[in-house]
Amino acid sequence: MKFSKLFIPTTKETPNDATLPSHQFLVRGGFIAQTGAGIYDFMPLGKIVLDKIRAIVKEEMDNAGANEVQFGFVTPLSLWEESGRANTMGSEMLRFKDRKNTNFVLSPTNEESVVNMVKNRITSYKDLPIHLYQINIKFRDEARPRFGLMRGREFLMKDGYSFHSSEEDLVREFNLMESTYKKIYTRLGLDFRVVAADSGAIGGSGSKEFHVLADSGEDTIVVCPDCEYGANIEAATRKPRVFDYSNSKELKKVETIDTKTIEEVANFLNISKSQTIKAVIKKAIYEDKTKIVVFFLRGDDELEETKACNAVSALELDDASENEINEAGLIAGYCGVFGLPSNITFVVDNEIKNAKGLASGANEINYHLINTDLSTLNDVKYFDLVAVQENDSCSCCGGTLKYTKGIEAGHIFQLGTKYSSAMNANFLDENGKAKPFVMGCYGIGVSRLVAAVIEQNHDEKGCIWTKETAPFMVDIIVSNSKKEDEAIAGEKIYTDLKTAGVQVLLDDRINARFGFKMGDFELIGFPYAIIIGKRLSEGFVEIVDRKTLEKTDVKVESVVSKIL
Ligand code: ATP
Ligand code: MG
Ligand code: MG
Ligand code: MG
Repeated sequence: MKFSKLFIPTTKETPNDATLPSHQFLVRGGFIAQTGAGIYDFMPLGKIVLDKIRAIVKEEMDNAGANEVQFGFVTPLSLWEESGRANTMGSEMLRFKDRKNTNFVLSPTNEESVVNMVKNRITSYKDLPIHLYQINIKFRDEARPRFGLMRGREFLMKDGYSFHSSEEDLVREFNLMESTYKKIYTRLGLDFRVVAADSGAIGGSGSKEFHVLADSGEDTIVVCPDCEYGANIEAATRKPRVFDYSNSKELKKVETIDTKTIEEVANFLNISKSQTIKAVIKKAIYEDKTKIVVFFLRGDDELEETKACNAVSALELDDASENEINEAGLIAGYCGVFGLPSNITFVVDNEIKNAKGLASGANEINYHLINTDLSTLNDVKYFDLVAVQENDSCSCCGGTLKYTKGIEAGHIFQLGTKYSSAMNANFLDENGKAKPFVMGCYGIGVSRLVAAVIEQNHDEKGCIWTKETAPFMVDIIVSNSKKEDEAIAGEKIYTDLKTAGVQVLLDDRINARFGFKMGDFELIGFPYAIIIGKRLSEGFVEIVDRKTLEKTDVKVESVVSKIL
């Protein structure tokens, strides 16, 4: 492909709302163009990258034995009424009426569609299992569409749905999908982690998320560098664990305790039994500051929490009644106790309505109070809390757990019979008995991955595509296309590379200066550039590695072998 023939509208202008590198560089590099809030067009380079990612996803899904299908983007609301989700999906699901006043939905996900496709078409256990998937547009009316392709309202998703005659067979497929997803992200050249997750609005029992590690990620995940253990913050359990706090980023697990009483807390913190939780806190704040208590309050019981909040502020005001002290102790036991060196953190999740009392107490002693969105954890300097998923059979080896930020790039669920039961989709088992299908569902954010690759691979000049995602592997820059020898050499190397099977772009733009072409190369982020310039007369060109920006002089005749 020739640069002069491709529509690549690069620009120096950064969109006002673009805070993330991927958003800035994908717009500036001429990959995508915004048409509305959370709605993007893909221009030629963006479409090439999107299709490459899509092709890898398709190849691995096909290898795993799944069948590609395509559901209508528009689905009748009646399907969602059948499943019961018409009432539960909330305002992310965009509904509209046609001219006959019939209600429709722009698909935010397709469990209903797939059940509708399979229902009455597969009737026997003999035809199971089956896995159907599509790579298709989704629409979710996100409350805060932002970060470019990262959180769009219209976006491309691979969504797969499997049907089984038993739970065991579902687990087999779920594990197969986990390994398939790992292959996909590995082929894309991404650093990622698999984490235990909550099932959210999709429902079902087991679920795992796949996170691309990046500081800009919206999700907080807990990972162990020594084993495969990982959990997202929503899946984090209330089970107390204790940590030896070594620095602000890392936590070393000391032991797991199951504290229920003040005595146990006191014992653990090595304070005599007669001392109360109040003393524990006082000791932490006013004395040696070697041990600090962190309460992790969650919204299981509002009354308990209200009492605890009141108790904690009363403690601070130094007029807590014995009863209040006990409440604080109970909550401390119930919620978990962590050893930290230099601050107190109360983490209160958004269910807690009456955190005011806590807040007023908290400010005076420099607590960090999180009372809305756990994603604001980023802003909390001294905060480090690790929680572990309860009953997590891939449980941690005991290594030093770390908090890190991730971009949710995929999510797999064991749905069970939630949708098949609701929609009356059954098969006949070996004994001729009708049973609802056992289902799994598996999503990958294909368009989000375009952005995720760049979040993980960029510098201050622009994108650095991984080999599998790059729109072209090599950009041949003819320094001055008006010079005949340079233009001819460019064409020759271009043809040779193409013949060798390399995806190559020839920057043959007559009126663009060298610096401009080089700037476009750095911004767009092809893995390599070949510069045809001043040393051509001596038989040399330069190869530039986009990642390191290192330049190497190479003989014209060995260019192809160097690139291969
Ligand atoms: P998030 O937590 O980021 O809102 P989700 O949990 O709602 O995502 P799922 O229902 O699990 O998303 O959908 C499967 C995948 O689709 C996600 O793992 C993610 O990669 C992608 N995805 C979800 N919402 C968006 C969006 N608004 N824009 C782009 N990709 C998205
Ligand atoms: Mg969502
Ligand atoms: Mg999510
Ligand atoms: Mg999800």
